[in-house]
Amino acid sequence: MIAELLIGGQWRASRSGRVEEVRSPFDGCVVGTVPIAAVEDIEAAMEAAERGAATWRRTPAHERMQILHRAAELADERSAVIARTISAENGKTITEATVEASRSGDLIRLSAFEGTQLYGQTLPLDANRGTGFDKIGFTVRQPVGIVVAITPFNYPALLVLHKIAPALAAGNAVIVKPARATPLTALALAACFVDAGLPDGVLSVLTGPGGELGDLLVSDSRVRKVSFTGSTGVGARIAARAGVKKLSLELGASCPVIVMPDADIELASSAVAAGGFANAGQVCISVQRVITHPAINGDFLDALVPKVKTIRTGDPASAETSMGTIISTSEAERVERAIAAAARNGARILTGGERNGSVVEPTVVADVDPASPFSQDELFGPAVAVSTAADWESAITQANGTAFGLAAGLFTADVAGAIRAMREIDAGNIHINWTPLWRADLMPYGGLKASGIGKEGPRSAVAEMTEEKTVVLHGRPW
Ligand code: NAD
Repeated sequence: MIAELLIGGQWRASRSGRVEEVRSPFDGCVVGTVPIAAVEDIEAAMEAAERGAATWRRTPAHERMQILHRAAELADERSAVIARTISAENGKTITEATVEASRSGDLIRLSAFEGTQLYGQTLPLDANRGTGFDKIGFTVRQPVGIVVAITPFNYPALLVLHKIAPALAAGNAVIVKPARATPLTALALAACFVDAGLPDGVLSVLTGPGGELGDLLVSDSRVRKVSFTGSTGVGARIAARAGVKKLSLELGASCPVIVMPDADIELASSAVAAGGFANAGQVCISVQRVITHPAINGDFLDALVPKVKTIRTGDPASAETSMGTIISTSEAERVERAIAAAARNGARILTGGERNGSVVEPTVVADVDPASPFSQDELFGPAVAVSTAADWESAITQANGTAFGLAAGLFTADVAGAIRAMREIDAGNIHINWTPLWRADLMPYGGLKASGIGKEGPRSAVAEMTEEKTVVLHGRPW
């Protein structure tokens, strides 16, 4: 597949003429070719977005909703093709890619609805001494204007749509810079919006390396909002360069799960065997650390390891494969090195630890030092690190003991303990009797600490992609 840039409603080649191949992380086959956007393409997309934003903000919300609903129908119709594109360029299994693609239409519809809900409030100005009844105040919400959306490789459809759909629903123009490894899915989704009748200029997609395009996109003063999902390092760079504009940063994590002695061990081990290995562990809310009570640590590991051993690696395109590849061989080597370093530091590899090309075997590592890099740094690979804590106090301290704060899970029958943990764990999402690897697209979603700022989920994203204005009508001028 030879893809083109989308600039202001037109599909076209890069002004530089440069292209790059998108390759399967599984077997290195060329999946497609995409343009590398040039500086002139960024300028053209900005100019188109200025025009598009002016048109789109004057388009009534019900018309915006109709166009988004058509885009959702197209995403539903094209779901199988989009799933194959996701699996081919990302390396996740076709089963996982099919689930991801099938959520697209509903996510667009949820966002379209939120774009029709831009309510304001009336202000009780007379409660302010001296104001009286001669003035009326109210607020209105309006689109910010131009949104730049920069997305990672791990959910090439959903994380693009969590930005595009609310931004468009709220009346903004959007310029998307998808991950370099997974641009084809973003282009396929953008085609749904174009084919649904989105006016020219409202949506652009620029493919190419973030290091080349990123600074120009995020620092442009015409852009009123940058919505970024990716690593904490790149997020920090964007925050330093963005200047005075709205910013959402959905960043890295090292998510914990606490398993207390009164937990349902079968439930906890099944959930960790799913939550640590979905998408080969390349999920920001993947289970990276399990903190067990010493009384049940052995039982938990005995229940977990056989379940992890049943996970089948192989060709992502096969329905028999339950875990796909890491995004590249060099990333797989990094994960392999991290596991080996944990073992050298005294941890025990109970299963896995091996690598074959870009496939890392599903791995369980016990007796991990919570202060070691294996717990502290984001792994983004298919391994869980198990350590112990003797009570709620120390389990919560350990859960909070990294720079991150995206999501956490805990398994217990102790309601009082769960409520305490829910209040004291510094994480944006907390799951009681499940792992952090769970997301309903409508829920507010975002991290604390080094995991970011702001919230996604259609309602939250629409709120963050709009501006609130206060208006006062002066019946008398004093
Ligand atoms: P990444 O930070 O390497 O890249 C993300 C995007 O940023 C890509 O489009 C990339 O091209 C672009 N980019 C790179 N350099 C840039 C720069 N200087 N300026 C602007 N943009 C630039 O992340 P990745 O490897 O694609 O994704 C994995 C990371 O994403 C992990 O850290 C993971 O935790 C995080 N993530 C977070 C969430 C969340 O909701 N918190 C969700 C998914 C992934």
